[in-house]
Amino acid sequence: MEPSKKKLNQFTLANNCPECYAQDAMILTFYQKRVKNSIYEKVSKQTGHSILCQKCKQTIYPVKWTEDIERVYNFYLKTLTPEPSLKLTKLGLFLIIFIVLLIAGLLIFWPQQAVNLQ
Ligand SMILES: [Zn+2]
Repeated sequence: MEPSKKKLNQFTLANNCPECYAQDAMILTFYQKRVKNSIYEKVSKQTGHSILCQKCKQTIYPVKWTEDIERVYNFYLKTLTPEPSLKLTKLGLFLIIFIVLLIAGLLIFWPQQAVNLQ
């Protein structure tokens, strides 16, 4: 299991950076959490976010947000439509087919065996 982030959308904020006061330098990135293992790749509907200032290269954490940043964040948050997804890997697909065939095989052969035992 290795969680990673799938970029959902990115916006440049016109607000001033609370660290270096640069304008048009902050990039707000929304992402969805992605969990990938050998059987499937799952993208969660839940979103996360981060704000990075390109001028001072600092991550602007919510504690540092001004009311304006919060307002803009809430505005952009409403524009998002995160789509959850679940994708099987080749191994996952192979396992599913294998299990289905195994169950089908059992259903076909089980009644015959039961008859033979009597
Ligand atoms: Zn800055």
